[in-house]
Amino acid sequence: MKPRRVGIYVRISKDRKGKELGIQRQEKACRELCDRMGWGIHKVYPENDTSASTTSRKKRAVYAEMLRDARDGVIDGIVVYSIDRLTRRITELTNFLEEQKEHGFAFATTEGEDTSTANGRMILTIKGAVAQQETERMAERVNNSLLQRREQGKPHAGGPRVFGFEPGSTFQRVVPEEVELIRDGYRMLMDPELRATPGDVARAWNEHGAKSVGTQTVWTIQKVKRVYRSERVGGIVTHKGQDIGDSIYPHPLTREEWENVQAILDGRSKPAAQGAGKRKHLYSGFLKCGNCGSTMRVQWATIQGRTFRRTFCHSGQVGVNGEFGCGKVNRSFAWIEERLDEVVEAALRQRSPKPREAASEDLSGQIKVTEERIRGLRSRWKEGQLDDEDYFDSLQHLRNNLQSLRSREAASVVRASRTETDALTVWLDQSEQNLERRRAIAATVIKQVAVYSVGKGRRRPPELDSISITPVGADSDDPEA
Ligand SMILES: [Zn+2]
Repeated sequence: MKPRRVGIYVRISKDRKGKELGIQRQEKACRELCDRMGWGIHKVYPENDTSASTTSRKKRAVYAEMLRDARDGVIDGIVVYSIDRLTRRITELTNFLEEQKEHGFAFATTEGEDTSTANGRMILTIKGAVAQQETERMAERVNNSLLQRREQGKPHAGGPRVFGFEPGSTFQRVVPEEVELIRDGYRMLMDPELRATPGDVARAWNEHGAKSVGTQTVWTIQKVKRVYRSERVGGIVTHKGQDIGDSIYPHPLTREEWENVQAILDGRSKPAAQGAGKRKHLYSGFLKCGNCGSTMRVQWATIQGRTFRRTFCHSGQVGVNGEFGCGKVNRSFAWIEERLDEVVEAALRQRSPKPREAASEDLSGQIKVTEERIRGLRSRWKEGQLDDEDYFDSLQHLRNNLQSLRSREAASVVRASRTETDALTVWLDQSEQNLERRRAIAATVIKQVAVYSVGKGRRRPPELDSISITPVGADSDDPEA
């Protein structure tokens, strides 16, 4: 007799298979199987993120409910996509098969296990065992993973001793006197009057009686350079040569200081030359530190052979307001530049065809709704109700929406009367000699940009609200606007 009231059990989890298998796909496959076999469907039991692994301690409420229904005869069959959707615990699988035998409900998976025979049940059990092993191995891999340690800001513990760090402390403790020397040397190297070289620093350290690491205890140019070249000195945690975040332990230099000194050692910049002369970056004058308000610098940095631009609040330099920057904001520049380019281009496109007579669009409502949806999505993900793939897909989609809404909003506050017919053409010509004209055009759209710190997690794109663009013509308390 064919079952007429089948329960379909679908489950999303954070494991590898779960990532590949959306909940809709599981349900669809199960429904197709029921159709093929002529089984009637009574109900779908969706389990939201409970990794049915051996390491999970969570109870699966929906799973329990379904078994209750099967015992009570509410349903007379269970269909799942594959055995590991049902459970990854071998004991649970054994229990399930016993329940099934006792209460006589039908059971099928889209992968075709047949539980009506002893052989089929054995195969199922073996599959369950394999799934369990896999889960355990996976958990082990993740727990031991170096990357995870790095992501937590714990630097690689091995390797030779590095000057500044206490021997045997696996780079978790510094030697204060050595830190002081490193900082003195940093100031020497960065001082525009002094124009000190690594050789000068070596001399100073030798005069101070400091001993270098290793058997040769006299400081040489190479040894000094090695100190300042070490990412550890700047508290930068690397994994396979990639910069993945900041160390949680103390370190002699800040990231920003370390990057400054790289530029000096590379000969890419001279201490006095920075900031002077013409600007090399389109938006460099527009960027304000979101934390302290001082003007941010844009600079090339090379980390492990990767050269990229960073923008940062400079703590070693007096800003326009006569105070030192806080040094707390330091970010990759490319992403910010892309967002600003989008805003300027959107504004210019809006201006160029013909002055709009319609009132500027009020998009604040739509923006609010979209922001709300992003927050909702994020909290559902954090609570484990969404798997990573679904989350990042939806997030990307919402972010794109928000981005275009924000660009349109920024564009809409630009006074339409200011017609610059060929501004867009000039803008789109990104050649070097066009830089100053492009700056002037950007200045008609963007008044300033507050840049906030994004912390760690550098591999994901920053949040859109990690910068805040003040368009020209927007309400402002600045009398110059
Ligand atoms: Zn600052």
